[in-house]
Amino acid sequence: MSEAPRSHGQRPPRPQKKFFHRRKFCRFCTDSAIKIDYKNPQTLRDFVTERGKIMPRRITGNCAIHQRELSLAIKRARTIALLPFVVSDN
Ligand SMILES: [Zn+2]
Repeated sequence: MSEAPRSHGQRPPRPQKKFFHRRKFCRFCTDSAIKIDYKNPQTLRDFVTERGKIMPRRITGNCAIHQRELSLAIKRARTIALLPFVVSDN
């Protein structure tokens, strides 16, 4: 009888995540002073990539309500040329 030495119930520890865990909060929920306003591109710019794309919720940490409001504001800001649609490489 040859039994392979297996340690049951002892799993190897999970590999450490490279990114340190940081709790994400919806910025607009935590700070009611900040308003989502399409006329205020400075605030919106924080939620847009340098290429002009809207950042996904999983990165910004916004809640669904505010992310929706934000994307609407960004789209509005774009149409009145406060934010760029696309930022070209050069
Ligand atoms: Zn929120």
